[in-house]
Amino acid sequence: APVVAVVGRPNVGKSTLVNRIIGRRQAVVEDVPGVTRDRVAYDAQWNGRRFTIVDTGGWEPDAKDRAKAIAAQAEAAVATADVVLFVVDSRVGSTDVDEAAVRMLRRSAKPVLLVANKVDNATMEIESTSLWSLGLGQPYPVSALHGRGSGDLLDAVLEAMPAPAPPDTPRPRGPRRVALVGRPNVGKSSLLNRLAREERAVVDSVAGTTVDPVDSLAEIGGQTWQLVDTAGLRKRVGQASGTEYFASLRTNAAIDAAEVAIVLLDASEPIIEQDQRILSMVTEAGRALVLAFNKWDLVDEDRRYYLDREIDRELRRIPWAIKVNVSAKTGRSVDKLAPALRQALANWEKRVPTGQLNQWLTALVQATPHPVRGGRAPRVLFATQASTSPPKFVLFTTGLLDAGYVRFVERKLREEFDFEGTPVEVTVRPRK
Ligand code: GDP
Repeated sequence: APVVAVVGRPNVGKSTLVNRIIGRRQAVVEDVPGVTRDRVAYDAQWNGRRFTIVDTGGWEPDAKDRAKAIAAQAEAAVATADVVLFVVDSRVGSTDVDEAAVRMLRRSAKPVLLVANKVDNATMEIESTSLWSLGLGQPYPVSALHGRGSGDLLDAVLEAMPAPAPPDTPRPRGPRRVALVGRPNVGKSSLLNRLAREERAVVDSVAGTTVDPVDSLAEIGGQTWQLVDTAGLRKRVGQASGTEYFASLRTNAAIDAAEVAIVLLDASEPIIEQDQRILSMVTEAGRALVLAFNKWDLVDEDRRYYLDREIDRELRRIPWAIKVNVSAKTGRSVDKLAPALRQALANWEKRVPTGQLNQWLTALVQATPHPVRGGRAPRVLFATQASTSPPKFVLFTTGLLDAGYVRFVERKLREEFDFEGTPVEVTVRPRK
């Protein structure tokens, strides 16, 4: 979503304006001069357009220490913004500090809207036109406290934003799509047959849905699922004719067509390269993942010991995968598959509200800042969740981050918000 930064001297009413725009009493921190305040980002929406609004500390150029830190933060927020709202107190008029801020904003070359705040009546509105002298064009007179003028301002904000990306294509209605994959002989067809037996039917059609003839509809755990490309599994065709290469293409296509994959492993045998390739297909495609260890009836205490070690070693890239131990032969724990699929999909589609995300992130980067590199430590300014399915996060920063630090943020993000069963992407956008 586009980023709108709210900048201005302390006490001009930035937080009140942010509250007005997000329509909630969330940014309640008082704008006290000299009090350092971190940037806080929130989700906002106007006329159906979503954006992120970043409340900055009060901008005081050339002042010492804390005020300087605030100025640096404001500049950093401007650098990452798509649109800047520069707020002036219309009762005070423009000050030297405002003029210095305008010079900084000019250098940033970002679209800037001049907001004349605390304009509570028509007379003050006429007086606010004197702010043209700041050279930022037409001032937008508003009363953040009472709401006056905020609609016109937001219309102008939308105008100044970059063109919207095409809307997320809504998930087609109908059953959730599952790929049941795994190397030959791990028990895919046995599991499919077991599901058909346990759950009464692999149904062939559901009212109002059209299903590819190579797919199956299955009733699992009280819900209908579309199992992608199971024709070969059901009829046991193509087993002899397909080379490993074509089998692998087919697996990849099934994963692509699905939302969640059940990767079947043979728990009675070591995890091998071919299993790893299939797991990589799932994470690279960004699909939700349930790992099913099949043939659990063959796992005795000895094997269990070695399997645990194999899991630690071979699956350490995907500690977040949901694991289920099943037996297609005995039916053991087959009923755990549907809840696992539901949980993985819910996390795959999870959206963390921007305010919540940033409150957590601010505390995290304060407690554990990025290590110093060459005398400087890049700072994380704020974050947004760019998309879901799978969840993708963007960190706005003052510079490139160590890969290790990005992994640390991802690990903490998973701990805090629970992304079990889904890959998560964290990318870094250093300010320009
Ligand atoms: P696919 O190639 O992945 O479809 O695997 P199959 O379903 O054809 O199974 C391969 C072999 O493993 C067959 O001999 C099955 O009977 C056997 N098998 C499948 N699941 C289990 C299980 O849970 N326990 C045991 N003991 N054998 C299994």
